Amino acid sequence: MATHFVIDGLKAAIDGKEILKGINLEIKGGEIHAIMGPNGTGKSTLASALMGHPKYEVTEGKALLNGEDLLEMSVDERALAGLFLAMQYPSEIPGVTNSDFLRSALNARLGEGNEISLIKFIRKMEGKMKELEMNPEFAHRYLNEGFSGGEKKRNEILQMMLLDPSIVILDEIDSGLDIDALRIVSQGVNAMRSEDRGFLIITHYQRLLNYITPDFVHVMMQGRIVKSGGPELAERLENEGYDWVKEELGIVDETVGQA
Ligand code: ADP
Ligand code: MG
Repeated sequence: MATHFVIDGLKAAIDGKEILKGINLEIKGGEIHAIMGPNGTGKSTLASALMGHPKYEVTEGKALLNGEDLLEMSVDERALAGLFLAMQYPSEIPGVTNSDFLRSALNARLGEGNEISLIKFIRKMEGKMKELEMNPEFAHRYLNEGFSGGEKKRNEILQMMLLDPSIVILDEIDSGLDIDALRIVSQGVNAMRSEDRGFLIITHYQRLLNYITPDFVHVMMQGRIVKSGGPELAERLENEGYDWVKEELGIVDETVGQA
């Protein structure tokens, strides 16, 4: 089914403080959207609110994936519906091996009564790990425990490849990656580009966008998307920073602020 994702007037608060102040965004299957912006402008909050992190209270708006509102679903239901988030700071889960975690996540994604056999799963996982140039021992390590920053990010991409989601949100997937890891991770994302899948790539730096060419670039400030354009917008931000955007829009403090 052709993917269509619409975020409509999304507002969210943390501990009663409004962080997201009305986000509107439309992502169609086949499209890659990038959200860029300085620190503290609400980018990760958007990702967490969409995924259903309990700390983030959605106060207004909708997030419709093929007509169904994700915001009315549990976290599990959102994953089953095809939403995937690679977090900026993936959690470590001691006691749960990476391969057990991946298999549970995949079975949850497939829905009840559609379990993948252990043999098939292992074959699939090993194939994807090879593509990502991951050491096979990472299958048996505890989830993210003692993984370096770059290893965690590769592992998030491994999850994405196994789960075959319809909407992929990558939050600062480039942070902590050296140039080789950046290339491998980008190849993984590019290989997953399809008409059935939309991407939302959150990044601080333009560098990732040299490897993954976005169709649309959005700038986030003060908990809103304040500017949108094509790939040339990312290039200008790389060359000139964010000050010209602030000047153009009369923004003094780009963060969500203390109010
Ligand atoms: P970005 O990802 O753009 O750097 P964030 O969404 O992480 O920005 O943060 C936006 C604002 O929300 C910041 O002021 C930050 O301190 C606040 N914030 C984000 N997550 C939490 C949290 N779990 N608890 C308290 N404040 C938070
Ligand atoms: Mg962030």
